[in-house]
Amino acid sequence: MNPSVLDDIHPHSFEPYLHGLAGLAPSLPPKVRVNGVAPVGYEQALRDLGQKGPGPLAIYIHVPFCPTRCNFCACTTNVTHDPGTIDAYLDSLEDELGLVASHLGRGWAVNHLHLGGGTPNHLRDDHLTRLMEIVDDHFRVPESALACIECNPRRTSPQQLELLRELGFCSLSLGVQDLSWEVQRVIGRVHSAAMIRDVCGMARAAGFHNVSIDLIHGLPEQTEASLAATLEQVIAMEPDRIRCFSYRHVPSDFPHQAAINPQTLPGVTENFALFLRVVKDLTQAGYIWIGAECFARPGDEWAMAQAAGRLHRNGIGFTALDSGCQLAFGPHGNGEVGRLLVQNESDLGAWQRAVKAGHLPISWGHRLSDRDYQRRRAYEQLLCNLTLPRSSLDSLDEDLPTLEQFAAQGLLELTGDGLRVTASGRFLLRSLCARLERSLNWDCRPW
Ligand code: SF4
Repeated sequence: MNPSVLDDIHPHSFEPYLHGLAGLAPSLPPKVRVNGVAPVGYEQALRDLGQKGPGPLAIYIHVPFCPTRCNFCACTTNVTHDPGTIDAYLDSLEDELGLVASHLGRGWAVNHLHLGGGTPNHLRDDHLTRLMEIVDDHFRVPESALACIECNPRRTSPQQLELLRELGFCSLSLGVQDLSWEVQRVIGRVHSAAMIRDVCGMARAAGFHNVSIDLIHGLPEQTEASLAATLEQVIAMEPDRIRCFSYRHVPSDFPHQAAINPQTLPGVTENFALFLRVVKDLTQAGYIWIGAECFARPGDEWAMAQAAGRLHRNGIGFTALDSGCQLAFGPHGNGEVGRLLVQNESDLGAWQRAVKAGHLPISWGHRLSDRDYQRRRAYEQLLCNLTLPRSSLDSLDEDLPTLEQFAAQGLLELTGDGLRVTASGRFLLRSLCARLERSLNWDCRPW
């Protein structure tokens, strides 16, 4: 995107959208239970997949443990320092992989493995090693696989990073959020820029091919000036990718967020201005804007895939690989197998009890109709590559009046070649696609 285009973007002109007045709610209800699928339906989907034979596969493993709870947290996690609790989790994880393999078959090649959380690197070295042994007992993770791990920079060490490389991880995602002391103090997550810089350097020295940094906009006490200072320091660390999500203050769902005084939060227009600052500063620094909230250096595979119109996404996030289907393990994991979307029990105890009873531990499932499946793929294409060819529009004929309305509002362009997201539409891309295909709003991992 030409940076000068951003000069024409003014937060106040987006207020009707930000307040949901223009038919585009800023966020939709997270999940509606529709045509629930019992575990037996998931078992059958795995058997059907197994009969088709090995194909590309992505695996997400949720590690639901942290050393402390950050005040802004909206993740499924548990604070523990008890090695026995983590041993018990690994026992259940082993059983869950065994259950899935009993339907799917063993030894499928994985082209994308992601350890998320929680804080996966809160696990001790022997726990991390055992976790990967469990994966290797059930699946085959070739050296060429993209293996990513989310890490809290405060919990890393050169030794741990070397172990992670030995275990096959090549991509590291660091949760930084903000570098301002005022913001860090209020969100309960304090670390210096120098420490983050050191961790980035250690990761590169250990041989990680890709180092990414996660930030959040809309945090308490955050101002445009403080965020600009954070961005300047992060840019100087030269991460391959930067992801910047919006903080959601929902203390009714996440009671620890009550520690944050809502008076210290930016309003919706101010929050939009914060994200505009992120887009301006990162694109001026040479980063390519990916999808709605991610940024990558020009040589990064996401940037190259987006430029070529072949970027994909799954429940883990963007990927340059077409993973076909995604299996998720651990509490709250989201999977997609064929037409079936499933989510595991979120509560650690409920997940463990289901696995112990020999059931696939899903708490929710939805079977997409053929039509909805095509719609999901079409809007994913728009989310990832910002265009939709005319041929894909045929599956969206009933959306045409809405698409034309968005085009009249300047958010999309409808041409003879198909559909294109405009610069303004880019800022509303996530809401726009989730409004049109509700299943996209059910994926709990970042987009
Ligand atoms: S590290 Fe992440 S998952 Fe853990 S408490 Fe903080 S925000 Fe939540």
